[in-house]
Amino acid sequence: MNIYVVMKRTFDTEEKIVIKNGVIEEGDAKYIINPYDEYAIEEAILLKEKHDGEITVVTVGGEDAEKELRTALAMGADKAFLLNTEDDLEDGDEYTTAKVLAHFFKKNEFDIILAGNVAIDGGSGQVGPRLAELLDISYVTTITKMEIDGQKVTIERDVEGDVEVIETSLPILVTAQQGLNEPRYPSLPGIMKAKKKPLEELELDDLDLDKEDVEAKSKVVEIYLPPKKEAGKVLEGEVQDQVKELVNLLKTDAKVI
Ligand SMILES: Cc1cc2nc3c(=O)[nH]c(=O)nc-3n(C[C@H](O)[C@H](O)[C@H](O)COP(=O)(O)OP(=O)(O)OC[C@H]3O[C@@H](n4cnc5c(N)ncnc54)[C@H](O)[C@@H]3O)c2cc1C
Repeated sequence: MNIYVVMKRTFDTEEKIVIKNGVIEEGDAKYIINPYDEYAIEEAILLKEKHDGEITVVTVGGEDAEKELRTALAMGADKAFLLNTEDDLEDGDEYTTAKVLAHFFKKNEFDIILAGNVAIDGGSGQVGPRLAELLDISYVTTITKMEIDGQKVTIERDVEGDVEVIETSLPILVTAQQGLNEPRYPSLPGIMKAKKKPLEELELDDLDLDKEDVEAKSKVVEIYLPPKKEAGKVLEGEVQDQVKELVNLLKTDAKVI
């Protein structure tokens, strides 16, 4: 089975993020594999264990993303592609990413493409569905269980807490939701082996694309952090006095009554 995972290098939103002049300070951000993509990688490994085949991980990004691709190889992927847009493009959006990926897949045969449900930084959840549309294949989002039998694919997906069961067939693109599996940590032998696994870099030219073909259709005009939360106020004294003060504060400070 030809199994592909499209994965994104994201900054770790658990870490303190510093924004200066409307952009995230790269120096302070810690980068990781998008957590939803870890579910996609784990599912790819489970599929290979059951059906044999080869797992390829693909990222659109810059040189820095090699580190996360090596981590995916250490988890168990067989080879990696970095679709390096660094020299050709300054800007890009979901259209750019999906189109670059689509041109890659037009040159590479696949049975299944696994993606994350959403990137924890950009958060649009667009790349998977856009890619499937460009490739003219079926896609199922937010999957929590998948069985493949020959060409038949049975999927459970999370619909706001309910479960929807879908039957479809290969080739397909699916996007992984939390709960699909428990992603493994790379083992030490896995990390050693990953250093020797193939990681190929392709640029727009190699994908028969020009800069103009993938120019962004949208632009991020501003990024800002949520306002800092004020510390809470602790009322003291007799309960009756506290209630009076609370009502007064709700009227005068919060202006909600
Ligand atoms: C050349 C270029 C320049 C960019 N410049 C900027 C910028 O200046 N400012 C800015 O804010 N953003 C920039 N971006 C990022 C871009 O706007 C989006 O973050 C990105 O296209 C994906 O959208 P998303 O983060 O909402 O991902 P989602 O659609 O939420 O991601 C869902 C899933 O799609 C897959 N996926 C997403 N992105 C990639 C990827 N890059 N490679 C492989 N798989 C992927 C993963 O499986 C992921 O889990 C740039 C992108 C490119 C290609």
